[in-house]
Amino acid sequence: MSDKAKQLQLTENELRSAMAAKKCWRCGCFQDTVNTLKDFSAITETLGELLSEAQNLFETIRYDCLGCDVCWPAVAQNLAAEVDPAIAEGGHCATQEPESRDGWPPLPGDYQVLRFQAPVAVCTLNSDHLIDEIKNSQIEGLSIVGSLHTENLGIEHLIRNVLANPHIRYLIVCGEDTQKAIGHLPGQSLVALSEHGVNENMRIIEAKGKRPMLKNIPLEYVESFRNQVQVINQIGEVDAALLQDLIISTVSNDPGPFADALKEIISVPVEQADEPDRLKLDPAGYFVVIPDRAQQQLMVEHYSNKGVLNRIFTAGNAAALYTHIIKLELISRLDHAAYLGRELARAEQALLSDENYIQDRAPGELDEVASNSQSQQSTACGCNNKKGESCN
Ligand code: SF4
Repeated sequence: MSDKAKQLQLTENELRSAMAAKKCWRCGCFQDTVNTLKDFSAITETLGELLSEAQNLFETIRYDCLGCDVCWPAVAQNLAAEVDPAIAEGGHCATQEPESRDGWPPLPGDYQVLRFQAPVAVCTLNSDHLIDEIKNSQIEGLSIVGSLHTENLGIEHLIRNVLANPHIRYLIVCGEDTQKAIGHLPGQSLVALSEHGVNENMRIIEAKGKRPMLKNIPLEYVESFRNQVQVINQIGEVDAALLQDLIISTVSNDPGPFADALKEIISVPVEQADEPDRLKLDPAGYFVVIPDRAQQQLMVEHYSNKGVLNRIFTAGNAAALYTHIIKLELISRLDHAAYLGRELARAEQALLSDENYIQDRAPGELDEVASNSQSQQSTACGCNNKKGESCN
């Protein structure tokens, strides 16, 4: 048997192992390899039929790569590359445009978002358990925590999501990188990208692992990412407490949002909110908020818009009161609900601190039409108390 025939036989064996495993049918790695091999006549003239059989097994992709200890399709592709070296850099998944959505992050993935305007992102590589452990720390400057399994699509997605948020200035790369027989090394590739960039073929310089090519993003994105973000190499670190300390010390060095961010991909611009103008009455009535110092509790009186007291509620805290009132559907306008929540919080704070409390009027000018049509007089809080008194 010739060397080529031997390589093809070994390639076939690996493909058959993948075809026998259902987990591969829905894995981007398997589908990418099969589609890639289909492009090379040196392979299809012998394995064409087998590759068509493999394509018939494809299911909707659920993951780019599972990071299995031995990835048969990756082994198959490496074996096939010895028949035609161009196969080593081929790949269908690396030419597919990712589907972005409005908002941030624009691309879906295995991550948890904490805050847009925060400077530190954490990539836990293949240690998925670290995502929750770090997220639950609730560190103020922490923006997003997520995993990373591949050194091509995964890194491309990460770059796009980071570039869409100029507040992110640090990326801590931690957790277990995959160290498989033949596999992926996304962490090593990400650090190499930060240190060396890409060559003229968009291959990450000095990256190891399966096909570290960034074909769906322009060079401009790669360079902007390298300028915006400082990658902190903690590959292998899985101690959540140590990582939390590192995040806190990193946050303290925040230089502020990246001034040269690529404007066209910033997904969430900051909008200036308008001052409230018109105040519309809530047909469900109005509330009077009272801190009851004798009983150390809050009290709310609910009136109809004709000034008739309907109900009285008491509770030890603001949340219990607004939750109860909303459940009873005694509020029919969102601005009224927001107003009541704010007043209850102020009254609760006054009760705790023993400070004086005066109920604020609702913001905005009372709607004249509504007011005249009901022939009612507004009070200082903007409600329809007929006596024209402040509701404090
Ligand atoms: S990583 Fe490789 S072996 Fe694992 S499911 Fe995906 S294609 Fe199959």
